[in-house]
Amino acid sequence: MIRKLLLALLAVIVVVAGIVVYRAITFVPAETTAVQPADYPIDADAVAGRLSEAVRFQTISRQPPEPADPVPFAAYIAWLETAYPDLHAALKRERLGSHALLYTWPGRDPAAKPVMLTAHYDVVPVIPGTEGKWTHPPFAGVIADGHVWGRGTLDDKGAMITMLEAVTHLLREGFVPKQTVYLAFGDDEEVGGERGAGAIVAHLQAQKVRLDWSLDEGSFVLDGIVPGVARPLASINIAEKGYLTLQLTAQAAGGHSSMPPRETAVGLIAEAIVRLQRAPLPGGLDGVSGQAFGAMARNMSFDKRILFANQWLFGGLLDHVLSQAPTTNAMLRTTTAPTMLSGSVKENVLPIEATGTVNFRLHPRDTVDGVIAYVKQTIADERITVSVVGRASEPSAVAGTATAGFRAMAAAVRRSYGDAVVLPGLTIAATDSAHYGAISDNAYRFNPMMITAQDLTGFHGTNERLSLENLARATAFYIDLLKTTGG
Ligand SMILES: [Zn+2]
Repeated sequence: MIRKLLLALLAVIVVVAGIVVYRAITFVPAETTAVQPADYPIDADAVAGRLSEAVRFQTISRQPPEPADPVPFAAYIAWLETAYPDLHAALKRERLGSHALLYTWPGRDPAAKPVMLTAHYDVVPVIPGTEGKWTHPPFAGVIADGHVWGRGTLDDKGAMITMLEAVTHLLREGFVPKQTVYLAFGDDEEVGGERGAGAIVAHLQAQKVRLDWSLDEGSFVLDGIVPGVARPLASINIAEKGYLTLQLTAQAAGGHSSMPPRETAVGLIAEAIVRLQRAPLPGGLDGVSGQAFGAMARNMSFDKRILFANQWLFGGLLDHVLSQAPTTNAMLRTTTAPTMLSGSVKENVLPIEATGTVNFRLHPRDTVDGVIAYVKQTIADERITVSVVGRASEPSAVAGTATAGFRAMAAAVRRSYGDAVVLPGLTIAATDSAHYGAISDNAYRFNPMMITAQDLTGFHGTNERLSLENLARATAFYIDLLKTTGG
């Protein structure tokens, strides 16, 4: 009897192992048809020259309430007219908000739904005291070692300039798009985009414009950034996380610290925060997270593919492992980040009020109200009040991957980057597409430039730079994209 049971158990193990291995063996990248590499006569030196000039305008968004200096913004807009005369002759330009720009390139088919390329040209300040750490000054636009150096090259003037280059190229070819093409350039993305992208959206909404798709910043072609994947990953992001900051407040009687009660306001807040940290919001490899990790994992080694190909068996283990690293954890769930604490004003005075501030970045499966309810339930202490700080935003809608727009972007990536893996992803920070999503059926977030982990440190940091090779490839990408979708 026991022998029979053991044999049956062994048979089950063999079958399960067989399924697990078979699924891993067949869990490989989908075949993609070969494409002709892009071969446009792009003068990378000339593009770099114009980006170098663009960098010299100090279009800085400062920490609110400090306003931006309008002078460089106006000067930059005037410079654009001289740098891109063909484009300014052919396209309608409107200035919205204060310095946001909307260009309209009418399509030949008025019934076709329009599309939009978008970027922002404001930049973050250079942290005072770090100027000396730059190899080349942040606003000089130095071209050296095959790169344009300076604040805004990666984020996001490089994208804006290459979009303008692509349209100029197509205009000179006599190309007329099928769909109307909008070029939208925000001037305050780094402080929320309300004035710039917000005004552009309101303007287009008033005309009942609905976009087939839009393409904004929010990701890159990642080279060597995801461990275990050798091929470059072109992560065309299909969603963006939401944003919520909550303040937890506890009140108490106060008094002298020589006779403290058993519980103080500071202690209550501390306990609440510990409870929140111990109970992160549920994650999981569903929806956009599953699509992104699934596509990545197909290009990993066999041992990792075994896990990802058999989520029916290893789903829990994967969730646990991916939750350990901050980068992968942020892709899986709404993150919980306690950022500020306050209590008494003096060391020997009991607080009459203590507060803790917690910042959440919402996964597309969650909502602002849902997270607030989860927080209250997890804290489970009626003495603590929970209030929203500043502006909360819901996570974006999730754009499709079977759309004409996504397919055209994937094809354009392959023509510029050969063997890059194209996959959908999730933008974990906020972009202007938090606004554009209101008028776009499919808001995508992707800059067609290849970056390494080292390049990422320049993002809002020191030694931001963009290679001439990337400028050529990005220009080719936008040319291709407009030709494919609107040709
Ligand atoms: Zn940006």
